[in-house]
Amino acid sequence: MHIVYLGLGSNLGNRKAIMRDTITLIAKQIGEVVRQSSLIETEPWGFESPNKFLNACICVETELAPRQLLEATQRIEKDMGRAHKTKDKQYEDRIIDIDILLYDELKINEPDLIVPHPLMEEREFVMVPLKEILK
Ligand code: ADP
Ligand code: MG
Repeated sequence: MHIVYLGLGSNLGNRKAIMRDTITLIAKQIGEVVRQSSLIETEPWGFESPNKFLNACICVETELAPRQLLEATQRIEKDMGRAHKTKDKQYEDRIIDIDILLYDELKINEPDLIVPHPLMEEREFVMVPLKEILK
């Protein structure tokens, strides 16, 4: 069993319902959600938009290997209706973003999967909810 921390963010649509439905899909497809932070509202980071984010972090116990986990989070993003991936650091509004923050004590450095998530320490919208649930 592996312990993973996921960062969630939504700034389009009924954000609360989207967060809730996303967590339900994660529980079904990835593993038991053992801890969940509060939802916080934050300003868009790295781009201009009138639409604020809701952010949260969750801790999940999973049997999935890192790459399977990335595939699962990306499939859930798609199933929730996320149309675009971020290209060339051009951030935009999104229905849901699921980032893999931590996977056990593992360090991964592959072109499409970097863990711990490289930008998390400079993002308050990640660190505040993460610290709430980190053990
Ligand atoms: P962002 O989260 O930066 O807004 P995306 O969700 O569109 O951007 O992700 C862009 C790419 O980041 C994905 O295609 C994925 O392969 C890559 N990536 C690298 N490391 C991670 C990670 N730890 N968690 C999630 N995605 C990651
Ligand atoms: Mg992402």
